Amino acid sequence: MPLHPVRPARGFPPPAGEERSEPIPKFKTLDDLPANLTGEIALVRVDLNLPMKDGSATDVTRVEAVKPTILELAGRGAKVLLLAHFGRPGGQRSSTLSTSMVIGDVGRVIGEEIMFIPEIAGPVVEQSIGILRSGDIGLLDNTRFWPGEEANDPDLAKAIAAHGTLYVNDAFSAAHRAHATTEGLAHLLPAYAGRSMEAELKALDAALGTPEQPVAAVVGGAKVSTKLAVLENLVGKVQHLIIGGGMANTFLAARGVNVGRSLCEHDLAPTVTAIMDEAERAGCTVHLPYDVVVAREFAANPASLRVCNVHEVAEDEMILDVGPTAVEALADVLKTCRTLVWNGPMGAFETEPFDAATVALARTAAALTLEGSLISVAGGGDTVAALAHAGAAEDFTYISTAGGAFLEWMEGRILPGVAALEA
Ligand code: ADP
Ligand code: MG
Repeated sequence: MPLHPVRPARGFPPPAGEERSEPIPKFKTLDDLPANLTGEIALVRVDLNLPMKDGSATDVTRVEAVKPTILELAGRGAKVLLLAHFGRPGGQRSSTLSTSMVIGDVGRVIGEEIMFIPEIAGPVVEQSIGILRSGDIGLLDNTRFWPGEEANDPDLAKAIAAHGTLYVNDAFSAAHRAHATTEGLAHLLPAYAGRSMEAELKALDAALGTPEQPVAAVVGGAKVSTKLAVLENLVGKVQHLIIGGGMANTFLAARGVNVGRSLCEHDLAPTVTAIMDEAERAGCTVHLPYDVVVAREFAANPASLRVCNVHEVAEDEMILDVGPTAVEALADVLKTCRTLVWNGPMGAFETEPFDAATVALARTAAALTLEGSLISVAGGGDTVAALAHAGAAEDFTYISTAGGAFLEWMEGRILPGVAALEA
């Protein structure tokens, strides 16, 4: 969900003798297409995997994200054919997982009538294209009904490509999958990033590709084990690595701190020690909390709630949030940085008052972003919810709702859907 565009670089002095220029995107965008697209048939990969309840979408953020691309292509005269997956049908047709389930919500958000086409290739698609006029929009059925989609079968990709004259990928959230409609098609037709994909790639590049330095990363959330690759990638790229959430307990325990009954992966002590050693070699400061919020029971506002130094956690207590003194110090770190990338809440933010550190740090980041001193990029399912809860999401430079693709990008992995656009 692009909240507002990435702010341009603001004259951070480039290293002597090196001109700092705006990063040049290695992929083509809709700007590289002729203004008039009459006669073109655009195959557009979008993410319409909407959360549903009682037959209608409970959140249409994903539709809002692709709306500009769809309307722009249609407005410029192309016939627009939308390709999307929906749920996990496992290579078989299923009436409840047809994209026809979402066509009502999609049409309402886009503000245009959309023709449902119950295939993704073949004569039915050909006939439908004949009926569509210039500027009309069609929605093909769930790409995952065909086993060749997830297998990235070249024959399926060819059969789909035969219907279009150009391919637009506007589904960053599916770009970590090498599927026929996220990767294969890009090699068979002139390929372009849609507006949402373009915004996402520019924001991610500004955060970790060619960021303004110094860079801080906040990594929180429940467990170190789910984010090992993220940590390993970040220590070589950022100057400040801020560890919060349950992960911080594992780091503290590896340093010999008694974390009581806290969520902690004790077996990861050697791994975490190796990460801290690597950070030291790379000149990355790892920030661990030195005060914490603890309680004997995990409940809202428990009677046993107290704030203490990390060395004073009792045997029967759990660390549930970063303490206020540490949060102040971390806010000071952010003030010295130009770029922030954030994944994972600082505490068990769903339960009050263990949201305090996340809320405070998020508001600091938001204020610095508004002031123009920080480029702030965040992503992750719970992170997006936590920043929204803090009322800070609107003011971040960019919030990615891409989930798995965002995390793989934070791990420094090449996303096949993006690489195919850059080829
Ligand atoms: P994201 O979805 O943004 O990647 P994660 O799924 O890794 O984030 O982690 C989010 C979860 O971590 C939240 O449910 C939160 O309650 C939990 N969490 C954070 N800090 C703690 C803690 N100290 N103890 C237990 N759980 C925590
Ligand atoms: Mg999560």
